[in-house]
Amino acid sequence: MEARRCEGKGGGPRAAAGLPPTNAGRGRKETPVLTQGGAEPGVSAPRLAAGPQPLRGGRRAALRKPAPSPAGPGAAPPPGAARPSGPAGAMGAGGLWARAAHTALSGGLALGLFLHRTDLQKQVECGELLQPLIFILLGLCSVLLYFKVSLMDPGFVKSEEEVEADKSEEQSMVAPQVPSNIKMRRCGYCMVKQPMRAKHCQLCQHCVRRYDHHCPWIENCVGEKNHPLFIVYLSAQLVVLLWGGHVAWSGLYFEQSWEWLQHNILLLMSFLMIVIFTIVVLLLLISHLYLISCNTTTWEFMSHHRISYLRHSELENPFDQGVILNLWRFFCSCHLTAWEKIYFHRNNEPV
Ligand SMILES: [Zn+2]
Ligand SMILES: [Zn+2]
Repeated sequence: MEARRCEGKGGGPRAAAGLPPTNAGRGRKETPVLTQGGAEPGVSAPRLAAGPQPLRGGRRAALRKPAPSPAGPGAAPPPGAARPSGPAGAMGAGGLWARAAHTALSGGLALGLFLHRTDLQKQVECGELLQPLIFILLGLCSVLLYFKVSLMDPGFVKSEEEVEADKSEEQSMVAPQVPSNIKMRRCGYCMVKQPMRAKHCQLCQHCVRRYDHHCPWIENCVGEKNHPLFIVYLSAQLVVLLWGGHVAWSGLYFEQSWEWLQHNILLLMSFLMIVIFTIVVLLLLISHLYLISCNTTTWEFMSHHRISYLRHSELENPFDQGVILNLWRFFCSCHLTAWEKIYFHRNNEPV
């Protein structure tokens, strides 16, 4: 086997996922961090394996830190404790506020467009109801998509008991089987076996498959299950915002008078808010589409140097299978992916 780029740094891709090394007889020194199935470096979960670790000050201090108290913010349940079955933020105060704010903003902005002298109002007065109706339906659709993506399971990693229960119920989106010779990490917070690309979210108190990020606006994680719908929601929201911006602009006629400002201040503010939201959603959508086309996540993109399976891969991005296949897998595949298989196949390692 040819010399690997990551030699001397921790045992290569197999070790990154806890797979026993294939060249054990060659005297390579394995770094315990990567072979003991502990929490992922950089995730700040406590290490499960016993024994002294050759870590520097900051890491050592971080790993010595006990798991957060169940009473504290972002607290983790103790090992063996029952985990919440849905998104922790789904019915929490933060989630309620975020959803109420989204609904109020959407409804308020749409109402403002109909109450001012805009194209929509003129069309309603003339009895041309098709465009106003389509606009309302699109707005409703984006709000429904928002609630769906906000309340659905983003891909929470299930415990072994839950997986067994799922098998007996024959659910459609059962987690894929990881080859038995791959030793999976165990999360130091919720104690589930973490598949590759999963990460524990402190806010949801769950490990999330193919974790992308925790979105405060939807007050839910974006993960393997709801990421495609998140993109659909962003696209629908962008269309509504662009149309809304056009409608608001149609109602603005500029005059330099105090009276004009009094009559148009709400419409002007609506227009400015729509412009700001449009820029945010557009940038978010473009960045996500770029990351999806590369088959990487926001978390992996931002923390590449802290993630062991990426640091110890021979490839810059071991999951990248080309734009077409990446997009197809993301939007068209209705099954969860065993990322370990792709990872080891791309790294030319037998699984
Ligand atoms: Zn976890
Ligand atoms: Zn989360």
